[in-house]
Amino acid sequence: MNHLRLADIIDQPKINETVTVKGWVKTFRANRFIALNDGSTIDNLQCVVDYENTDAQLLKKINTGAAVEITGQLVESMGKGQSIEIIVSHLVVVGEADPDLYPIQPKKHSFEFLREKAHLRVRTATFSAVMRIRSVLSFAIHQFFNQKGFCYVHTPIITGSDAEGAGEMFRVSVLDPKNMPLDDEGNIDYKKDFFGKETNLTVSGQLESETYAQGLGNVYTFGPTFRAENSNTSRHLAEFWMIEPEMAFYDLTDNMDLAEEFIKYTLQHILDHCKKDLAFLDQRLTQEEKSLPQQQRSPMGLVEKIKFVVENEFKRVSYTEAIEILKNSKPNKKKKFDYLVEEWGTDLQSEHERYLVEKHFNAPVILFDYPAKIKAFYMRMNEDKKTVRAMDILFPGIGEIVGGSQREERLEVLEKRIEEMGIDADELWWYLDLRRFGSTPHSGFGLGFERLVLFATGMSNIRDVIPFPRTPQNAAF
Ligand code: ATP
Ligand code: MN
Repeated sequence: MNHLRLADIIDQPKINETVTVKGWVKTFRANRFIALNDGSTIDNLQCVVDYENTDAQLLKKINTGAAVEITGQLVESMGKGQSIEIIVSHLVVVGEADPDLYPIQPKKHSFEFLREKAHLRVRTATFSAVMRIRSVLSFAIHQFFNQKGFCYVHTPIITGSDAEGAGEMFRVSVLDPKNMPLDDEGNIDYKKDFFGKETNLTVSGQLESETYAQGLGNVYTFGPTFRAENSNTSRHLAEFWMIEPEMAFYDLTDNMDLAEEFIKYTLQHILDHCKKDLAFLDQRLTQEEKSLPQQQRSPMGLVEKIKFVVENEFKRVSYTEAIEILKNSKPNKKKKFDYLVEEWGTDLQSEHERYLVEKHFNAPVILFDYPAKIKAFYMRMNEDKKTVRAMDILFPGIGEIVGGSQREERLEVLEKRIEEMGIDADELWWYLDLRRFGSTPHSGFGLGFERLVLFATGMSNIRDVIPFPRTPQNAAF
């Protein structure tokens, strides 16, 4: 490779040196000025073409979207808007882009339009910034756990246990849908299927992580998870990435401490390493919100909002306290909530979560000790026999970003809950074994990666922070 990355050239320009760069034309102005981008930075590099001495046929091929290779001298720029530029001495159009057909023209495209062009949208400034931040964030996540001595485990993506209880699953099968084998009772005979039983795509790596924590101590998974829930919202995907740490000998407070430290670490990391991309997205958001009425605009800019989360303590509040706050809140009394909060025990809707975070506490909130009835079977029962040691972290503009708990480590209590909830205990024999042999108090949580990327980039739809979103009725590309 003999060419340089724009990020390196722009950060440490070696004035007067001759360099070669390769990238895509963003714009070509006055037959003279190419704005070039190679994806390594949000900044374009201006390349000045001597059009009088350049073949007219070649000039015609320098269109938005074309791939080019350029060699020339790096000089200080006289023009406004950039400090350096390349005086082109050699130019090759490596791959043409027909201006009548190339859809990503230098004008504002809606995100809806760009979702239809998901294979090309990363060539826009916004999507390239989002995807670079996504990449840096995922490295920060591994770095955080690595520094703390956590072991990275790869939990299975195809699961044979249907007891995870985190929503609808996608079936994995090689049976012919037009010719399903049936058993004597007329039900589908999964014994004839590939694995000899019914299998699905995982909704969570938690149960398997727990087994590894009970031997390795502190572990985490970071992989794809799948939910066939038909929630067509701006915060749900059918395929998303989840980070799930699981820690032996951690109680719920240790769990909350770790989750808070973890989120702050990853956000501080992008504040340190993604300054230009964040500044760009910050500006984009301000610009976009100009069209909204004053009350709907964010009170803080993007960078300010991220700093606010990093620098302030998350508020820790029990579910019971939260219900009291919500019951007595203005929107509840004035019947402004779609779902009014009347009694203890109901699940919180995202309008309630957002009220707590954005109006009442004005900070991220960790809600804990939820009613057992609305939480999963594996969460540790409290003394009151009504609540479990669950904790959810709620974020401004997002709602739930983390769901976690201290796990039930007492065999009899766990067996009783499994029975009460009508779950097939035979399926969970191996999970129950963990409580039979060397059981420990332990805890863990799941953080939806795309929800973190949403927060970190100020984007408003989860479909715009994953390269190729999978949602109901949509698996193009
Ligand atoms: P929600 O109530 O928002 O649907 P959940 O209670 O189903 O979330 P958990 O089962 O606790 O979520 O999953 C852990 C985390 O995974 C959530 O806190 C969230 O960040 C993320 N998450 C859950 N479902 C989705 C989804 N469909 N798309 C993207 N992220 C998700
Ligand atoms: Mn859900």
